Parts: sequence; structure tokens; C-alpha cells
Amino acid sequence: MKVLLVDDSKTMRTIQKRVLEGLGAGTEFLEAGDGFEALSAIASAGGKVDLVLVDWNMPNMDGLTLVQRIREKDKATPLVMCTTEAEKERVIAAAKAGISGYVVKPFDAKTLLEKVQATLARMKPAA
Ligand SMILES: [Mg+2]
Repeated sequence: MKVLLVDDSKTMRTIQKRVLEGLGAGTEFLEAGDGFEALSAIASAGGKVDLVLVDWNMPNMDGLTLVQRIREKDKATPLVMCTTEAEKERVIAAAKAGISGYVVKPFDAKTLLEKVQATLARMKPAA
């Protein structure tokens, strides 16, 4: 499974990676520091990854714009917003853009892993 971690903080990406290693041994991680890097990383991965964690506040292209760009042509990939932004309006805007899950920072490891697992289970393509 390919997981793309998008956050302008390398420290945050490292923490997310440690937590999401709990998804299993076959998990492969890609990283991006903003929305543009994320779109290139997806393109380099053949146009598809299995899960994207998206920070909201990033330079160049923020997470909400990234979600909108991905959702223009891809409704299926699980996109989990992982952000300090906790206001209701933000959560609603992110939901409208098509996110699949929302985790507020700071999170504890258990919460992040459980939310990601629940999102993956819910969005699993029909076999
Ligand atoms: Mg940020």
C-alpha cells in the first residue's frame, strides 16, 4: 500500500510515518511538503496512491486546494485531512471538497491510526 504524507513540517511527516507503519509491513511512504509536490508525487506513482494524509496550512498550494485538485478526477482515493484547524466551518469546507476523514493536530498515535484504519475500511473498493 502506498501512503502519501503531505505536510510542510518534515517532523510531522516523520511522526505520521512512525504511526502509520502500524498499518502493516507492506506500507510504502511517499512525502511532499506542499500541494504541488503532492501532485507530482502522485503523478510519479502512476497517478494513484492508496491513501493521502493532507495538512491544511502549507506554502504554495494548501491542503484544501490540493483536495479539490485531486477530487476533480479521483473520487475514490481516501484523503484524510490532518490539521490544527478545528473550526466547524473548516471541517464543513473540507467535507464539501471531498475529504474522507479529519484528524485534528495534535493527535495521539492511537487516534490517528484508528481514524485512518476506519477510513480505509469504509472506502475499500468492492472486491
Ligand atoms: Mg502546515
